[in-house]
Amino acid sequence: MGIFDKFQALSATRRDLEALGIDPFNVQIDRIVSPTEGIILGKPTILAGTNNYLGLTFDPEGIAAARTALENEGTGTTGSRMANGSYSGHRMLERELSAFYEKREAIVFSTGYQANLGMIAALAGPDDVVLLDADCHASIYDGCRLGGAEVIRFRHNNPEDLAKRLRRLGARVANTLILVEGIYSMLGDRAPLKEIVDVKREYGGYLMVDEAHSLGVLGERGRGLVEELDLLADADFIVGTFSKSLGGAGGFCVSDHPELDLIRYSSRPYIFTASPSPATIASTRHALRTLAAGTHLRQRLRENADHLHAGLTALGYTLGAPPSPVIAVIMEGKIEALKFWDGLLKRGVYVNLMLPPATPNGVSLIRCSVSAAHTPEQIDAICAAFADLRTAA
Ligand code: PMP
Repeated sequence: MGIFDKFQALSATRRDLEALGIDPFNVQIDRIVSPTEGIILGKPTILAGTNNYLGLTFDPEGIAAARTALENEGTGTTGSRMANGSYSGHRMLERELSAFYEKREAIVFSTGYQANLGMIAALAGPDDVVLLDADCHASIYDGCRLGGAEVIRFRHNNPEDLAKRLRRLGARVANTLILVEGIYSMLGDRAPLKEIVDVKREYGGYLMVDEAHSLGVLGERGRGLVEELDLLADADFIVGTFSKSLGGAGGFCVSDHPELDLIRYSSRPYIFTASPSPATIASTRHALRTLAAGTHLRQRLRENADHLHAGLTALGYTLGAPPSPVIAVIMEGKIEALKFWDGLLKRGVYVNLMLPPATPNGVSLIRCSVSAAHTPEQIDAICAAFADLRTAA
């Protein structure tokens, strides 16, 4: 027995993929041309798997802000905020995030993954309970492990199941953190947040909403599902990422609980890692302003999502959810999905391949993510590639 024995199953899976001549988890984008185009395998390719929901990665003003920060403040902070100090940009971004959400406190983390890890592990320790939607992201599960809380899953998007489990907890409800996402990353479906809030109001507990895929997408000002459903005040904690609609890297949590500031002193993923670079903070600050004012971008994104959803539905594909920027096509099995993914790439369309165990209920998915920057012609071209594969099948 050796430490590498556990990799044998992985190695066998890789060999199977190599035999098929497909390597979906090692794609190299040779050149990135725009938010929606790249060169892959030497060919111009439409990018429809990037989470670049508002298409802000090439915003000239965002790039200029990042460049100025790079020149004035250097390439990196070379340390954590706790040990090495915060730059003014970190603090400013936190102020801007709390103003944006009209929440009292905000903390910036180095990634969205770390925002979940850092918040959940600090809030929910061994004497606490995390009640999470079964389809929650890996970073939420990992945060629970780091904190050592008891983890109870409730059935995906099922408020009755949540209520049942909260009821069983009795007095421990006071030590319970409920976790849901605004838009779920795999199927693109939304949480029934109103009903979940009703359950929380009846039984108690604290609610954390991960708006990674809904920030910039839902709500008049882009504040996510909490804004769209007018539930901003009911979410104890809102977490999100800079890596999707904001086109950067980093994560955050906002809250009205004054204790949020204390989390800095006990959150290992906040303390023991380098803070985001000045360029990242500068482009994110600019993107946040664009996002807040970007009603037209949200409108374009909705039109593109509706367009792709309608096109794929007309072709007879089974989709994971009503239109949203995440459009998941449900495949019959792993091999079909692999070949399909490869077929799309050969036709100049890059999407995500999602296989179990990363997916809910063991489904294999072709996951498309739509951007406000896609042109109607690009959406037509994506549909044409899907149509071609339908004929070829
Ligand atoms: N939460 C959810 C729901 C996500 O889908 C992701 C990333 N896919 C994250 C958090 C982590 O974000 P980041 O990539 O910024 O670490």
